[in-house]
Amino acid sequence: MRKNNRIPLSPCLRRFRFYFDLLGKTAKDYLFFTDLQENLVMVSPNLVNDFDLPGEIMHDFDQYWVPLVHPEERGEYQSSISKVLASQVPCEHSLEYRVKNRKGEYIWICCRGRVGLDRDGNPYMFVGTMSRMAQRNQADEVTGLLNKYHRATGEGGAIMVFGLDNFKIVNETYNRMTGDIVLKRVADVIGNVIPPELTLFKLDGDEYALIYPNAKTEDVAEIFASVQSALSRPQDIDGHQYFCTASCGTVFYPEAGKDYLVLHKHAEAAMDIAKREGKNRNTIFSKEQYNRWVRSISMRDSIWESVENGCVGFSLFFQPQVSAVDQRLIGAEALLRWKNPKGRMVAPMEFIPILEETKLIIPVGKWIAEEAIKVCKRWRRFVPDFRVSINMSYEQIKDLSFKNFVEDCLERYDMPPDSIVLELTESKIVADWSFINKQFDSFRHLGIAVAMDDFGTGYSSLASLKNLSCDIVKIDREFVKKILENDFDRRLVQYVVDLCHSIGISCCIEGVEEEAEYELLTKECKADSIQGYLFGHPESVTDFEEKFLQG
Ligand code: C2E
Ligand code: CA
Ligand code: CA
Repeated sequence: MRKNNRIPLSPCLRRFRFYFDLLGKTAKDYLFFTDLQENLVMVSPNLVNDFDLPGEIMHDFDQYWVPLVHPEERGEYQSSISKVLASQVPCEHSLEYRVKNRKGEYIWICCRGRVGLDRDGNPYMFVGTMSRMAQRNQADEVTGLLNKYHRATGEGGAIMVFGLDNFKIVNETYNRMTGDIVLKRVADVIGNVIPPELTLFKLDGDEYALIYPNAKTEDVAEIFASVQSALSRPQDIDGHQYFCTASCGTVFYPEAGKDYLVLHKHAEAAMDIAKREGKNRNTIFSKEQYNRWVRSISMRDSIWESVENGCVGFSLFFQPQVSAVDQRLIGAEALLRWKNPKGRMVAPMEFIPILEETKLIIPVGKWIAEEAIKVCKRWRRFVPDFRVSINMSYEQIKDLSFKNFVEDCLERYDMPPDSIVLELTESKIVADWSFINKQFDSFRHLGIAVAMDDFGTGYSSLASLKNLSCDIVKIDREFVKKILENDFDRRLVQYVVDLCHSIGISCCIEGVEEEAEYELLTKECKADSIQGYLFGHPESVTDFEEKFLQG
C-alpha cells in the first residue's frame, strides 16, 4: 500500500516522477531522487516499506535516515554525502553501510548516487540506488549465530559448506526452474539428516552451510556420510530422475579463523579441493593444503597467460639416454620446464597437473612435440640414430588431433618416425585398455615407438604389461633404488627385463645414480638402455650440446 504524507511535489520532481515510478516497477533495488534546491526527496515504495519511512516524498530526508544508519558508519555516511553535495563537479557517492530496517535489524546496503549540476554549475539533483548486499547480510546472520553459540558454549565447532556436484549440468540440460527445485530438494534432503538442533543456511548459488557447535572430526564425518547416503538415491523431480551428489569443505573454528568471512573462505576452498579430488567427498581444511590451493589458483592464471602468449616461459630440458652395453649416447628424454612470470623455475610436479586439469597440456603438448622434433633434427648431425622421447599425458592421447599433428610435424621437418618415442605413464590409464591400445597401435603403425613410463609405480604394473602393446618399458627409479642392498628387488628387475625381452619389448632403466647400480643392471639384469644422473642430468639445449655432443 502506498504511504502518502501529502507533501506536494516540486516542479523538478514532477518532471521526473513518471520515469521514476516506471524504474521503481522494474528494479529490485531502492531508488531515490533528490531535488537539492528544495531539499525534497522522492523514494521508491519498497524503501518506505522496508525502513518504515513517513512517505515517498520527504523534506530533509536525512532527519529520518541518519538515525537509522548504524552508529559505526554514521560519520562516514554524513561526510560522504556532504562532500558530494558540496562538489562543483559531478561526482559520485558510493558507500556500503548498515541501516536499521522496520524489524529493527541492521542490514548492509550499498548506496550509489550521482549529483547532477544545472546550467550554472550548481548542484541540482542527487539520484541513485541502494541495494541490499545479500552475501554480506547472510554473513552477518551466520556470524550472529556463531557468536551466539560461542557465547553459549564458549567452545568451538565446525562449519561445513556443501556444494552440489555438476549442478551446472542440471541448469543447462533443463532450466532454471528445475534447477531451483533441485536446490530446494537437496536442502530438504540435507535438512532431514542433520541433527534437529542444527540450522542449514542456503548460500549463494548451489551452496549450503551448516554450523555444528562442539563438533569433532567423527561428528563431521558422520554427518557427511549421512548426506552422502541420502543423496545416493535418485531424486524424482517432475518425472525426471536426478542423481545429485554433494562435495563438502569443513573448517573447525576457532582453529581455522575467528571471523566468519575468513572461515567461509577457507571452507569454500576446502570444498573446491574436494571437487577437484573427485567430488562426492568431504575435505577438512588445512593451512598447508590451502596455501597450495592459493598457489595453484594463481599459477593457473600465469600458465594461461604463458600459453596464450605462444608458450613463453616454457622450455625443454633434455636428459641423455645411453646404451646399457657400451654407454653410447642413443637419445634423450625431453622434460618440460616452466618459469613463472617472476622468473622462478616451478617443479614439473606442480605445474603439469595444472596443465592436465585445464587441458592446456593439449596445446602445450603440441609445442613440446614440435620443439623436440626440431632439436632431434639438429642432434642427428652428431648422432645419426638419435631419438628423442616425448612425454604424453592421457589427455593428449584422448585428443585425436595429436596424432595428426605429430605426423605432420615429422613431415615438415623431414624426420623419420623412428626419431621419436612417445612415453605414457601407466598409473592413470587403468580404466581403458582397449582405447589406449588402439591409440598406441595407430602411432606404431606410423613407425613411432611407444614406451610405458614409470613401470613399477602403479600397483597394476604387471597387468598393464599384459594389456598394453608397447615397444619400450621404462622401469622406474623406485625399483632401482634398493637393488644394491635388496636381493628381491634385484631379482624383480631381472625378471621384468626377462619377461619384456621374451615378448620383444626393450627395457630402459631410469634413475641410475651409481656406478655399482649400473654394473648390476647391465651385467645381471640385462637392461637395454639407461637414463640417470650417473650419465647426465636434464640440461638445456645449449648445455646438452656442449656436454654430450661436441666434446
Ligand atoms: P618422468 O617422465 O619419469 O621423468 C623423469 C624424471 O626423473 C625427471 O624429473 C628427471 O629429472 C628425474 N630423474 C632422472 N634421472 C634421475 C636420477 O638419476 N635420480 C633421480 N632422483 N631423478 C632422476 P622431472 O624433470 O622433474 O620430471 C618429473 C615428471 O614430470 C616426469 O617424470 C614426467 O612425468 C613429468 N613431465 C616432465 N616433462 C613432461 C612433459 O613434457 N609432458 C608431460 N606430460 N609430463 C612431463
Ligand atoms: Ca617420462
Ligand atoms: Ca619415468
